[in-house]
Amino acid sequence: MSDISTKPTEAALSSDCLFCRIAAGTLPATTVHEDDDVLAFRDIAPRSPTHILIIPRRHIASALALTDEDGPVVGRIFAVAADIARAEGIDESGYRITTNIGAWGGQTVHHLHFHLMGGRQFEWPPG
Ligand code: AMP
Repeated sequence: MSDISTKPTEAALSSDCLFCRIAAGTLPATTVHEDDDVLAFRDIAPRSPTHILIIPRRHIASALALTDEDGPVVGRIFAVAADIARAEGIDESGYRITTNIGAWGGQTVHHLHFHLMGGRQFEWPPG
């Protein structure tokens, strides 16, 4: 059974998806990394001294929609995260990478993104 909500049409993406608009450059963001496949920018409402969102340029609704074919872009995202952590000076103190999925997971923007957060101590388990 197909799930149309996780596979929006290309036409829907550019106009409806906040992070597609940032990836397209039609909505401003404070970008810290960009390449052909991945974009990283500062969260507009940071919850820690370093709070950066890392996204695939291509629309993927959430981690729930990932398939084996997405392996390279997910690997690239984690390599970019490590580079950013070093650049932000949080690599030695430690940091957290989180992706929220669906309503109970706390996802509010339905384009896959990884929160890279650091610069303070985090609790476990998260609230
Ligand atoms: P989540 O709740 O996991 O879906 O995370 C969405 C994140 O996007 C939140 O931390 C928001 O603060 C952030 N956010 C929403 N709009 C923007 C924007 N225009 N630029 C940067 N970050 C944003």
